[in-house]
Amino acid sequence: MDIFTPVENLHNVGPVYKKRLKRLGIKTVQDLLYHFPHKYEDFSNVKKIAEARTGEQCSLQGKILEIESSRTWKKKMSLTTALLGDEGGALKIVWFNQPYLVKMIKQGDFLSLSGKILQGKDGAYLSNPSFEKMYQGEENSLTHTARIISIYPQTENLSSRWLRYIIKAILAQLGSSIKDPLPEEIKKEYGFPGISKALWQIHFPDSLESAEKAKERFSFENLFFLELAILRYRMKLSSLKAPQLPISLKHIQRFTESLPFKLTDSQRKSAWQILKDSEKPRPMNRLLQGDVGSGKTVVAAIAVLNAVKNGYQAVLMAPTEVLVKQHFNTIWKLLNNFKMDIGLLTGKEDKFFSKKLKTDSIEISRKKLLEKAKEGEIDFLIGTHALIQGGGKRSPGIRFKNLALAVVDEQHRFGVEQRAKLLADDSSGTPHLLSMTATPIPRTLALTVYGDLDLSLITELPKGRKKIITKIVLPEEREKTYQFIKKEVKKGRQVFVLCPRIDPGQEIPEEEKMQGWAEVRAVKEEYEKLSKEVFPEFSVGMMHGKLPSKEKERIMKDFSNPVSKRKKIDILVSTSVIEVGIDVPNATVMMIEGADRFGLAQLHQFRGRVGRSKYQSYCFLFSDSPGKKTEMRLKALVDTDSGFKLAEKDLEIRGPGDFIGIRQSGIADLAMKSLGNVELIEKTRKAAKEIIEKDHDLRNHPVLREKADIFQKMIHLE
Ligand code: ADP
Ligand code: MG
Repeated sequence: MDIFTPVENLHNVGPVYKKRLKRLGIKTVQDLLYHFPHKYEDFSNVKKIAEARTGEQCSLQGKILEIESSRTWKKKMSLTTALLGDEGGALKIVWFNQPYLVKMIKQGDFLSLSGKILQGKDGAYLSNPSFEKMYQGEENSLTHTARIISIYPQTENLSSRWLRYIIKAILAQLGSSIKDPLPEEIKKEYGFPGISKALWQIHFPDSLESAEKAKERFSFENLFFLELAILRYRMKLSSLKAPQLPISLKHIQRFTESLPFKLTDSQRKSAWQILKDSEKPRPMNRLLQGDVGSGKTVVAAIAVLNAVKNGYQAVLMAPTEVLVKQHFNTIWKLLNNFKMDIGLLTGKEDKFFSKKLKTDSIEISRKKLLEKAKEGEIDFLIGTHALIQGGGKRSPGIRFKNLALAVVDEQHRFGVEQRAKLLADDSSGTPHLLSMTATPIPRTLALTVYGDLDLSLITELPKGRKKIITKIVLPEEREKTYQFIKKEVKKGRQVFVLCPRIDPGQEIPEEEKMQGWAEVRAVKEEYEKLSKEVFPEFSVGMMHGKLPSKEKERIMKDFSNPVSKRKKIDILVSTSVIEVGIDVPNATVMMIEGADRFGLAQLHQFRGRVGRSKYQSYCFLFSDSPGKKTEMRLKALVDTDSGFKLAEKDLEIRGPGDFIGIRQSGIADLAMKSLGNVELIEKTRKAAKEIIEKDHDLRNHPVLREKADIFQKMIHLE
């Protein structure tokens, strides 16, 4: 046996426990050893029976003089009572509802017990103690009593007692053969115990201080691996070649001057950081993060313009068809004067806009579009994940002639592999990658995962934006709210109505649920109601994922940019297809039905669809199940307009793992918690740097290297 042995191969773990371990994600001996207690109870206070006092928490040791099981006829509870004796006295022991104990404990056994002494009607007794048998000569190797005992999170029916038993057996067998991945110099510098000692002390501590020291070591260790992984990934990136894109100031100036607004300082700074990165001969990997509505698209457009004016191609991938089309339209307008050939690829239809076509786009076949990309006749391609699909016979994958820049919008919507596919090398090397998101990364995670280097933040909204007024609408206020909305529409503003997510408890055929038809039905019902009963005087439109492509496009156009007043949609009823990215500055009301069914982050995204102009905007949260709890959650949204703060709230609830995709990867909870510890992050970062500087490929640290390799495979770095 070694630490990589699967728990299945452990002879003292039965089939039931194997299943339970599996459910906890514990696969190997190492996982088991790194399943740490979350607290300790101190029972090291061993007393003689004569000295023990009522109310005291203590451990007693002695011989079982008698034991029997009975049933209280009143409460139908089973009682096991025993009498424990030592040199100076005897005390009653009572266990509740564990009738099997009479089979395990026999008269004459020597026991060690830990628990609390209570006062009963007929005198004092030790109540429900944990216990274990003591054998001659082994008094010092107690596991569950008379010491500081470890308590593990109670999950999947794995009792602390069982975990202590199995972990102790493993540690005893592996002894000091466990190789220590932490380099000596680090252990020395921070005074950390070696791996074996640390594992013993975290599970079976001699004192609370040494448990704490062990815990510190493991917190450090996990973050240290993470930092190492990040540094090594960076090194790998810096060994790749990317096209160098000198900054074409002339074009960029012309571009910014052509905008109907002035860039914010944050936008300028971010754009500059991106341009600076892409000047270098190694691939950029930068995340542009800015709250909803902060203006990330223009920043990306600047980077794209620069790439194209250097004679290279650029590509942008976004998660939904609706968003991709919007990007196509906006960017086309933004870059219209710069003589660019732009393509649109969604899997449903493919469009092309060329510098020769001064005013309109044409539709071409996917095959044609791919050909053009490959021949370099498209400067900038915009698309959904259809961009990276295929590669088979029927739908050939995308190839570029000389791709220099890939932009991924709403990057949290894509998986790691999808992003990697977009970056597939071509003849000109690895393209620069710009990822964009409104999902804030908490500061500590930004530090760990991205380092300050590769993160650009847009910290301000464009000037003149008003704070969105967010309100929870009670059932009795519904009518009043409709009236208010009518006034807004009469003023010329527009409204989004978001239909509720289908109630998770609702009975819907699985297939229907999967394909999203239930959502469609909800939208249709809401549409009927609003267009016929509530707002008959206005033009109401409907949007959902199942509409034909053309229809979606027409509706978005009539809503965002109608050809005539007559065509204009005032109120758009939609599913969450408009969740991310959609930009209609004239819309000022976001009305969300069944708001309680969405998560905070998602609601914040919805709200971000309004408040994109100088007009005062509103977000109305309707909820079908008003209750204290719902209200409290929604209130967080009312109280803060900052995505950062909401993310922190989310972080409290969900834990940081979700943010970087390591939740499922078997990293101990301890490490998760330490992701919130700035001081520790900085320490481990420094330590990782020092090691890597001295020993680039970790050749002199084979154990560390092995661990780091495994760790690297587990986490997602983008
Ligand atoms: P997001 O960061 O959510 O992707 P967008 O890029 O969609 O935001 O921009 C939101 C809106 O703000 C767009 O209508 C855009 O034209 C506008 N905008 C962007 N930058 C500025 C600015 N500096 N001043 C005024 N409006 C801006
Ligand atoms: Mg956007």
